[in-house]
Amino acid sequence: MNLAFWPAADSLNVQSTMTMSNRDLSRRKFIASTSAFLLASQLPAAEKETGLADASKLALEGGPRSVKKTPPKPIRWGEPERERLLAMLNQNSLLYWKAPQTTLLIERFKEHCPLKYVMNCSSGTAAVHIAIATAGIGPGDEVITTPVTDMGSVIGILFQQGVPVFADLNPHDCNLNVTDVERKITSRTKAILAVHLGGNPCRLNELKALAEKHKLILIEDCAQAWGTKYQDQPIGTIGHIACFSLQDSKQITCGDGGLVASSDDRFGPLLQRFGDKGIDRVNVKTPTEVLATNYRMSEPQAAVAAAQMNRMQAIASQRAKLGDLLTKEITGVAGISSHQVDEHDRCTYYFYMLRLQLNKFSCGREQFVKALNAEGVTASAGYIPEPLYKKPVFLKHAFFAGRWPIKEMGLTSMDYGKASCPEAEAILQTCVLLRINEAMDEEYIRNAGAGIRKVAKHFAV
Ligand SMILES: *Cc1c(COP(=O)(O)O)cnc(C)c1O
Repeated sequence: MNLAFWPAADSLNVQSTMTMSNRDLSRRKFIASTSAFLLASQLPAAEKETGLADASKLALEGGPRSVKKTPPKPIRWGEPERERLLAMLNQNSLLYWKAPQTTLLIERFKEHCPLKYVMNCSSGTAAVHIAIATAGIGPGDEVITTPVTDMGSVIGILFQQGVPVFADLNPHDCNLNVTDVERKITSRTKAILAVHLGGNPCRLNELKALAEKHKLILIEDCAQAWGTKYQDQPIGTIGHIACFSLQDSKQITCGDGGLVASSDDRFGPLLQRFGDKGIDRVNVKTPTEVLATNYRMSEPQAAVAAAQMNRMQAIASQRAKLGDLLTKEITGVAGISSHQVDEHDRCTYYFYMLRLQLNKFSCGREQFVKALNAEGVTASAGYIPEPLYKKPVFLKHAFFAGRWPIKEMGLTSMDYGKASCPEAEAILQTCVLLRINEAMDEEYIRNAGAGIRKVAKHFAV
């Protein structure tokens, strides 16, 4: 996913103007407004002059903004990255194999995610593709996953001639519903791809038990989950294979990049080959036995990624703290469900996803978000426009030059036109994404919380 849909912070810096007159005020509002006036010292000049600042009035309608100070943009790189890049420039080869930047990157990655085999690669999409190929997914094999994710989660499945099978989600953590995953298991199922949406971990113990019961491979898509913990364990360490992305929108980045890792001796040694044209770099004389594409990450990316790895915990813990605080701020607000995170887990909020119960409001989601933006809250209506199975490429089964050979050959009877995940669809129609990043502070979150409460109250029916 790229974050092009996020409104630029600057564009949200709309100054409010006071337009309401004295006569418009009800007695209740008058009391609220005058006490707010006594408390508030930072009111715009116009409000001070009239003395009638109504704190409950929407910024959209000329009331005071809930967020007084737009948070700064995060400073994402600096001296540590420069140092690594300069070291890289002194090398006479930029190929990854046993190279200094890659070695350091993998060493640092293992400090956070202690897995035995690690392959760095060109993207999160590449990481998932390598995992799928390594897991031995072949023509007609089914992989159960969520329809609410980045296309990168399923591209590798399709290229290996596997079949993504979409399972429904839990309403409030927006991750795979284990009961529905079990329902979707058939004799063709080979793997479960668990996507930790927004940095919120899936119910991994349940998924692992299900995988064991049905002899399935559990792959974790941790692309949005840097620093996430599942019951105090680092994300990526529960499943058989873990995939990470270093794309620009993720918590840490080198522009584009990825990592794929495993401690399983069946899969681990193959990760490198499936990311490097089938070449076995450990034993280069080994004849090529598999078809694999070139997903190598080169040393310039690895240099930046290695430096970013040292920033990861600080970024993750700040995001976790702020997101959890936002939940406290909006818990109990009528019509709003917060992003549900288990108390034993750490969510690192790639985004914060709340849901609106639209029948509790007199406005639609777009209007609600417009009002939030006017309050200075960085929010957007929705995540991806529709579940993956509703994209034309799925509806038309047009994966390979307009065709789907495995369907033509009778290796699958999948019909994406019949796919239905009602909760996933409801999530996409009612969710509001709030941006959380490490440059924000608790004051911003408290004000954002106040903004959400104010808008919810205003539109409450
Ligand atoms: C970003 C993302 C990917 C793909 O990563 P890229 O590096 O962009 O290829 C895969 N899965 C999820 C859940 C993502 O958010």
